[in-house]
Amino acid sequence: MKIKNLYKTKKPVISFEIFPPNDKYPIESIYETIDGLSKLNPDFISVTYGAGGTNQGRTLEIASKIKNTYKIESLAHLTCFGSTNEEIEIILNNLKKENIENILALRGDLPKTLIKPNGDFKYASNLIKKIKKEDNFCIGAAFYPEGHLETNDLLDLFYLKEKVKEGTDFLISQIFFDNDYFYTFKEKCDKLNITIPLIPGIIPVTNVKQIKKITELCGTTIPPKFQKILDLYKDNPEALKEAGIAYAVEQIIDLLSSGVSGIHIYTMNKVDIVKEIMNRIEKIKTCLKEVG
Ligand code: FAD
Repeated sequence: MKIKNLYKTKKPVISFEIFPPNDKYPIESIYETIDGLSKLNPDFISVTYGAGGTNQGRTLEIASKIKNTYKIESLAHLTCFGSTNEEIEIILNNLKKENIENILALRGDLPKTLIKPNGDFKYASNLIKKIKKEDNFCIGAAFYPEGHLETNDLLDLFYLKEKVKEGTDFLISQIFFDNDYFYTFKEKCDKLNITIPLIPGIIPVTNVKQIKKITELCGTTIPPKFQKILDLYKDNPEALKEAGIAYAVEQIIDLLSSGVSGIHIYTMNKVDIVKEIMNRIEKIKTCLKEVG
């Protein structure tokens, strides 16, 4: 099923993101995670793609497993920077062969030594145009409620509109810890007549070092009230887990109550944490379904 149709027929759509295991580990090591997540009845599961990495083939294999064995819709991430036209065509063909209908089309981060992108695909919009021309995939793309590190906010919105014009069907956000960034961004998109679903991506934080690295890379702000939590519980994993889950749940409830079409959870492959979050929003999901 095309994910764009899920957003048309169901609210809220709950989705999870997982990443393939590092090459040092057998691919089977992710199956336990998929098994656990599948029991939480997600509407789809997305699988990240290592830009320029060695484990890119694993995205296809895992996305196929989710779709064809677990019978859950899958969203295969695909980065284009550094790939040739021919390489992308081969990947699209392989996705088609595995019956995968949904692609999250991304540029990927640039190597630190490169100032300006080059090659067949400079931006995600080039990939979106290519996918649209090749076949009937449903296409998702990324957006940045706090802006993208390389561009100022206004230009980034302009380029987002380009991605939508080229054929994007839905958008998933970068992580954020202050929902006001999301709401302000949504207002700007409304003004630009970007009407496709804007899906907030939420990460439950359970590891301070890891989140420091991620936020440094993507430029997400840690608000003072969350920083206080991280500072206080950084050396107590159980307390941090409790606080991280509670913070994510509070964000999710606020977003759902504000009418978002769905929530995308960056699971970090941690089933127990996602399970706890899903338990805590169960009644809210049911209530939202009842009120339509
Ligand atoms: P683009 O939309 O191409 O934008 C990149 C930058 O270029 C922006 O600053 C934009 O404003 C600017 N720009 C766009 N078009 C133009 C133009 N025509 N002229 C000049 N400037 C332009 N990375 C991975 O490696 N693997 C993953 O699986 C992955 N999954 C992700 C999932 C989500 C939901 C998100 C939010 C990010 C993900 N990323 C992933 C990270 C992503 O690859 C980086 O954030 C990357 O730096 C930008 O990718 P993009 O697709 O948003 O790029």
